[in-house]
Amino acid sequence: MYNGTMLARTLQSRILLAITCTCLAATARAVDHVSLERDGQALHVSGQVLVEAQDGGLLLMDASRGLWAITPDEITHHDQDDEPFKLLDQEQIAEKLQSELTGQFRVHQTAHYVICYNTSEAYARWCGALFERLYRAFGNYWKNRGFRLDEPSWPLVALVFDDRQSYAAYSRPELGEATSSIIGYFSLRTNRVTMYDLTGADRAALQGASSAAQINRILSRPEAERTVATIIHEATHQLAFNRGLQTRYADIPLWVSEGIAIYFEVPDLRSKNGWRNIGGVNRVRLSEFRRYLRSRPADSLRTLIADDQRFRSARTAPDAYAEAWALNYFLIRKHPKEYVRYTKLLADKKRLLYDTPAERLQQFEATFGSDWQQLDEEFLRYLRSVR
Ligand SMILES: [Zn+2]
Repeated sequence: MYNGTMLARTLQSRILLAITCTCLAATARAVDHVSLERDGQALHVSGQVLVEAQDGGLLLMDASRGLWAITPDEITHHDQDDEPFKLLDQEQIAEKLQSELTGQFRVHQTAHYVICYNTSEAYARWCGALFERLYRAFGNYWKNRGFRLDEPSWPLVALVFDDRQSYAAYSRPELGEATSSIIGYFSLRTNRVTMYDLTGADRAALQGASSAAQINRILSRPEAERTVATIIHEATHQLAFNRGLQTRYADIPLWVSEGIAIYFEVPDLRSKNGWRNIGGVNRVRLSEFRRYLRSRPADSLRTLIADDQRFRSARTAPDAYAEAWALNYFLIRKHPKEYVRYTKLLADKKRLLYDTPAERLQQFEATFGSDWQQLDEEFLRYLRSVR
């Protein structure tokens, strides 16, 4: 959960430094070919330019929906052809992943996912089933609240490594030092969820005879709850950013993007088709929030909403995540119409355009009212009543 945030920050600061915020939306349908030099390496990328900044910086989407933020000084050549831009289909994505990853990777395809893995087939299937259940439950949840999500025409990609070492080797360029403390992540840049086989040591004890039932047994244990929650959390980010709820590299406040991921992260490994407790009380976050209440400042809601600062520091982040869960939980349940209206407003946000803290507060007030004290009292009263 922290990693998506960190990636976003790294990329946003990179973009912000090099590209002014006054961006022009590109409408060209043709394929752009850009040659660039980055860290002493010559690269070539093709795709569709989504944003062209006034200073010549580009945001380009490649055929696997990877995003490239390219600064003007990196570009050595840029031209266009008349070919229509086409995304890769499931088969092409599967081929690309297999050629990109070193070692023996296989592919498991489901209706919406391409899962590339070098662990057991049973585990890949287990992940595929979990993701598909989440996909369905997530769509139904929003539909029932008046927000019909998109059906993406592109596959959602997940990489599953067999152990921590191979996962770390792949993810280190993106995560850096954080690799050792993060068990799975969604990358805004590549659009992929990356993780490793969580049954690890237990699998060895089972002599590799993994079956869906055995995997479920291992991961249903109370001590595995947080680990599974992390995977669901990251898969939820991927769904939000691929089904029209949020746009990658748009200014989605973290209290919403993280709050929603936490809201849905409560695992339900028992039911085969449904997800009985989707959006249920997140016990871990609730108790963290209650702990935070002992020292919570009066302007806590405003600081949570105005900008993402509280999520950025290791000291304040746990409380910010807990409060983000609590606020989303409260608004979804007590102000559902306003909440959906606000979510739709965020869904229309354009890439690389950033709101000021004052603008964020205004947008919130325009939907939920400007009586902060009253809202805060109602919020705390409700959260104290949650069992
Ligand atoms: Zn997250």
